[in-house]
Amino acid sequence: MSHEGLNRRAFLSALGYGVTRACLLGKRATWAQAAAVATPATSKPTRRVDHFEAFPDGSVACGVCPHACVLHDGEVGRCRARINRGGVHYALGYGNPCIVQVDPIEKLPINHFRPGARMLTISCGGCNLGCLYCQNWQQAQERPDQLKTFELSPREAVAAARKHKLDIIGFTYTEPIAFLEYARDIAVQAKETGIKIVVGTSAFVHPEPLLELARYADAFAITLKGFDDGFYQEVCGARLDPVLTAIKTLHERTRCWLEIINLVVPTYNDRMEDVSALARWVHAELGKDVPLHFARFVPLYKLTDLPRTAVPTLESACAVAREAGLRHVYTSNIAPHRDTNTYCDGCKTVVVERLGFKILSNNLRHGRCPICRRPIPGVWA
Ligand code: SF4
Repeated sequence: MSHEGLNRRAFLSALGYGVTRACLLGKRATWAQAAAVATPATSKPTRRVDHFEAFPDGSVACGVCPHACVLHDGEVGRCRARINRGGVHYALGYGNPCIVQVDPIEKLPINHFRPGARMLTISCGGCNLGCLYCQNWQQAQERPDQLKTFELSPREAVAAARKHKLDIIGFTYTEPIAFLEYARDIAVQAKETGIKIVVGTSAFVHPEPLLELARYADAFAITLKGFDDGFYQEVCGARLDPVLTAIKTLHERTRCWLEIINLVVPTYNDRMEDVSALARWVHAELGKDVPLHFARFVPLYKLTDLPRTAVPTLESACAVAREAGLRHVYTSNIAPHRDTNTYCDGCKTVVVERLGFKILSNNLRHGRCPICRRPIPGVWA
């Protein structure tokens, strides 16, 4: 399929853009139509957080992420998604997603796991990072109970996926660590029915809670924001080391498929020395076969005075990552571009051709290059 001759609307549609937050199951829908599958929330059910310590003075210490919030009665954590109510730590967004829609799996982005598959995306409000350039700030930088939400229990979420013949559930847009309890409970139910779980996360989380989700998950798309702790602290409100530890934990202790995403923000994290350090770390710790995506920044939230990432900058980042030894390096959020395709590392044949989130052709033969038969790393079926 060629993109030439498409008008703008058709072009955006071909890329997978243009869906709304009330767009469910592949059709443009009103909120009321979306509610036919997921009931609009009228109450705020909550569930206890699995990892916290309660103190005699009624405060709680959260053990989910390295922020280690200590909260008095009524206080909400930095993620906006957990609250101390009467000396018990509760998950605010549990069972109340603000996004329930169908997406191509490429939207995470993830390129080596079931290309072209559709997934039921479920997201709740909140995030334990505060990136100044947050690309989904309307949901991620809000308390889950202050958004328009649905009531959707884990069992109902899995039933909705099955009803619409979707065998993947994805958690993305906001931060799944902010709704870890809900994501985990959905994943447990999904596992029983053979539905796969994919997770898009910034991985600022302690290893144990992460592993409790990973035990039931199949793939992770992890945003590694940069390779400079100062950048993490000043721009993202987090720290680098715990993220690296979480990524290594997933690599060493699970069998989940991993892809790494770096969103390149002009003047903030676009120095090629930093890109090189990041790519060399991925190569050394995760191996040459782990895909690395360089995503284009779009000016949003608090960094609206910056331009979009220049395409040559993303191309330079790809070149640097290949020099570091990585075999599968991508650009993301730009299309058309040759670096959105998957190539055979041996004969350089295009094995998966993409236009944005759309698969134009998948030439893999049982996970191998159709020309030289070299296996391409990934989960293809
Ligand atoms: S998960 Fe939320 S409440 Fe818990 S420590 Fe992190 S930011 Fe604080």
